[in-house]
This record gives sequence, C-alpha cells and structure tokens, in this order.
Amino acid sequence: MKIIKNISEITQIVSDLHKNKKQINLIPTMGNIHAGHLSLLTEAKKFDGTNIVSIFINPAQFNEENDFTNYPKTFDIDVDILAKANCEIIFAPSIKEIYPRGANSKKTVFKYRDILCDISRSGHFDGVTTIVKILFDLIKPSRVFFGEKDFQQLKIIEQLIIQNNLKINLIKCPSIRDLNGMSYSSRYSTFSQNQRLQFDECAKIINSKLINLKKNLNREILQSIEDELKSSGISNIDYCEVRSEENLKISKLNEKSRLFIAFYLSKIRVIDNFILY
Ligand code: AMP
Repeated sequence: MKIIKNISEITQIVSDLHKNKKQINLIPTMGNIHAGHLSLLTEAKKFDGTNIVSIFINPAQFNEENDFTNYPKTFDIDVDILAKANCEIIFAPSIKEIYPRGANSKKTVFKYRDILCDISRSGHFDGVTTIVKILFDLIKPSRVFFGEKDFQQLKIIEQLIIQNNLKINLIKCPSIRDLNGMSYSSRYSTFSQNQRLQFDECAKIINSKLINLKKNLNREILQSIEDELKSSGISNIDYCEVRSEENLKISKLNEKSRLFIAFYLSKIRVIDNFILY
C-alpha cells in the first residue's frame, strides 16, 4: 500500500494510471477509519480500478474550531487498518498542501440547502464541496463512494457532480450500524463510558419509535422522540424530521422517506437517518 502525501506525487500516479487505462475509485474520508469507511472500500472492490482512500481532516468544513481540534486523529492506526483491508493507495495530504493560501471555501451548490445540517452548521457544506471538488480535480476518479449516513452530503455531492458535468459515478453506500442500531461515526470514538451509556439510551428511544413511525407517520411520534430524548438528558436537538430521499422535502408519506435526526450528546454531534419503508 502506498501512502502519498504530496500533490505532485498523486498527480503522477493518477496520470500513470490513466495512461495504463486504469480506472480510479475514490473513497474520501476524514480518517479514524471504522467499519462504515471499510464498507465503502469493500463496495469499491466490486468494481474495476485502483482504490484510493483519501484521509484529510478538512478544516474548511468545521464551523467550530473546538470541533476541529477535538476531531479524532488516528493516522497510524488508520494506515494499519487500511493495509489489512488491502487498500492500494492512501492519499493523506497536509492542510498546507491542499490550501496553500488558507482554507477558504465558496458556496457553489445551492440545492438541498437551508435545511437539516445546513441550518445549524453554517458553511459546513461549502467546505465539503470545496474539498471534494479539489479531490475530484486531483484524482480524476471514475467512481466515488459516499455513505448514506451523511445523506444530505450525498445529495449535495450528487448535485456538485451534475453542476460540473463530471463523468464520475457516485456510488451510494448504506449505513453500517453498531449493535445499538446507530450508524458508526468517528466522532463517537471519543465518548466517555457515561456518554456511551447515554448514547445507547438515545438509540433505544429512536429504535422503539421507528416501528410506529413505519406504520403510521405522524407528528406526534416525532414529537415523542424529541420529548423522550430531552427527558434522557439531551438538551440540544438540531432536528427530528421525516423527509423525502429524492428531494429532501418534508414528507407526509413513508414511501421513499427517512427519519433524519441530529442532536448533541454533550459536545459531540450525533447525526443519523433511518429508512421508513
Ligand atoms: P467521514 O470520515 O466521517 O467524513 O466519512 C467518510 C465517508 O464515510 C462518508 O462518505 C460517510 O458518509 C461514510 N460513512 C461514515 N460513517 C459511515 C457508516 N456508519 N456507514 C456507511 N458509511 C459511512
């Protein structure tokens, strides 16, 4: 497995691969590799081509400096895990390499905005589209793999590809979940023992309501999720809504809809979504 840190090196590798008519599969991550990330690599292996996992904790997508500082950084362990998973190339550039003039981002995608995470994380998606476009330009992949766990991100990336007329196939990968039913996330690796217990309690509340929500989609059930989470000690809930997978508009039917939820457990943001059909 090659570990590439420089733009010049990755550009050379990409150029050689293309000369040899090899396709490239790109899996963008921010590291702290877990089963969710590995499922993207497993999906990539079903296709032809060389698999490149990028690891870059993108400062431009953090709307709070503390969140960036506290984000788990486990590069050496990530390298071991990815080597064991037979990843071919890791692209792990420094911040300076990617943003020589500072981590500025621009709003280029306007669809699927002003809802869900965009309300509470101002500028986050501009940071995401900025780094993903930089990675697309450098790595020129045939396919890119994103997780449905970050569903709004997935839709915004889909739009980024459409707007730029890119010939990149976006492969949407289902959420890989822990035993408690919640999707794995790098952020949860920093839970204390007590926070882990509280998280399991939240998971129980959400899971117990999903069955009813699937049977009968009504506002009262959504309200009861919020109420019960609050009773369990969660004071900051960003949203708890049912929206359409197609257009992310508020949904009154289960068909092609998901429950989208985001809340804070202490300072750690939990975000997840659940299929309702
Ligand atoms: P991150 O490192 O959190 O930026 O995630 C990198 C990619 O992995 C994104 O496309 C995420 O949606 C995806 N991902 C993160 N967690 C999971 C999960 N539990 N299941 C599936 N994909 C995931």
